[in-house]
Amino acid sequence: MAAGRAVERLRELGFDGRLVLFTDEARLPHERPPLSKQYLRGKLAESRLLVRPAAFYAENAVEVRTSTRVAGISPSAHKLTLADGERLRYDRLLLALGSEPVRPNIPGADLPGVATLRTVEDADRIRHRLRPGASVLVLGAGFLGSEVAATAREMGCEVHLVEAGGVPLAVLGPTLATWAADRHREHGVKLLTATTVTRFEGALEVEAAVLDDGTVIPCQLVVAAVGARPRVQLAQSAGLRVRDGVLVDGACRTSAPEILAAGDIARYPSPRGTMRSEHWDNAQLQGRHAAEAMLGPVQHFSALPYVWTELYGSTVQQLGAWAPALPGLVRGDPASGRFTALQLDGGRLLACVAVNQYPALKWARQVMESGTLLDPEKLDREGPRVWSEPSLGPSTLRLD
Ligand SMILES: Cc1cc2nc3c(=O)[nH]c(=O)nc-3n(C[C@H](O)[C@H](O)[C@H](O)COP(=O)(O)OP(=O)(O)OC[C@H]3O[C@@H](n4cnc5c(N)ncnc54)[C@H](O)[C@@H]3O)c2cc1C
Repeated sequence: MAAGRAVERLRELGFDGRLVLFTDEARLPHERPPLSKQYLRGKLAESRLLVRPAAFYAENAVEVRTSTRVAGISPSAHKLTLADGERLRYDRLLLALGSEPVRPNIPGADLPGVATLRTVEDADRIRHRLRPGASVLVLGAGFLGSEVAATAREMGCEVHLVEAGGVPLAVLGPTLATWAADRHREHGVKLLTATTVTRFEGALEVEAAVLDDGTVIPCQLVVAAVGARPRVQLAQSAGLRVRDGVLVDGACRTSAPEILAAGDIARYPSPRGTMRSEHWDNAQLQGRHAAEAMLGPVQHFSALPYVWTELYGSTVQQLGAWAPALPGLVRGDPASGRFTALQLDGGRLLACVAVNQYPALKWARQVMESGTLLDPEKLDREGPRVWSEPSLGPSTLRLD
């Protein structure tokens, strides 16, 4: 995603030099969000995943070298080495290597049928096993695990969703987490919290998962969604500064001259320390920002963190970042399927989590970008003018 957006932006800005995009995948830059949603359900053709159609790269003289792994970088020589030994010189290099799923480090995790989800091939393998009536266990109830559990359920599978913490989607705050847990249960997902799998069992492929209290759950498919790691090995061996991500400045520049990084692998400065985002919006904005920085001076990257997810036909969006230590305010009734949770710090809007409420997100963006200070007492009165919708029930304002 970040690399796809970067080449697009470079040509938009009039860069007319040689432009080469390397990817070790067999396909052109593509979207990953549908891989746990519409594509996994079989409702979206593979061609619809592309960031840009093949013709775009030909028309814009972008050389795309698919199935080509970059094996080494020499920052001092401005050269990179491909897996087949070919060496190429660069003037500017953007690293947009993404992240890779963490595999659970427990016995049986390498059995066939224990999957992780990152690529189109992963999604195809998982979909093949999502037959009506199949027993599926999803490990981890973050964004990916929650989406896969919902998709598997919608496809008629029997689903166990196992989460080590107390709630699913904890990063979105307690009201959303409770709402998500209710939705999973209402749709027939067996949500098991505060527990984990200690081993998988099976003769030729996975047949069961054993929980920490000894419970045995029969399953024909396991999807492990227990986090991802930034792909930093290349940067590390090139001697770039790395700390849970490749460290960059506000212009996406790494510690080596002429090498930039963007997307899931980049750890960048923010008002609350350095941060790394493993989300779609960040990848595309940072890819474009890095492209601009390759050609000249830029402002510091300062996009508001934004993420969305989909659960059982509802759209959940978050702007900003939920701070677990602070209370939240809730507008609307979660049971109605439309509500907004807000978090304020001294009148400053820190986070807005909205379920099926696009106007709320728009309002929150304006407030955050303008730095407007809010009065929690007045929010209940001012809110409806800002994001009321005909189907929104009586407003409620309460501490989360
Ligand atoms: C199943 C799934 C669902 C998601 N859903 C959402 C969602 O609903 N909302 C949201 O906000 N975000 C979502 N995301 C996250 C979002 O897709 C990622 O944040 C985004 O793809 C990151 O873009 P990127 O360019 O950093 O990395 P990627 O898109 O992963 O691209 C990195 C590319 O670099 C290649 N590469 C790595 N190493 C090398 C090498 N040495 N040589 C050559 N090529 C290499 C990789 O193979 C890959 O093609 C989802 C992710 C997944 C996996």
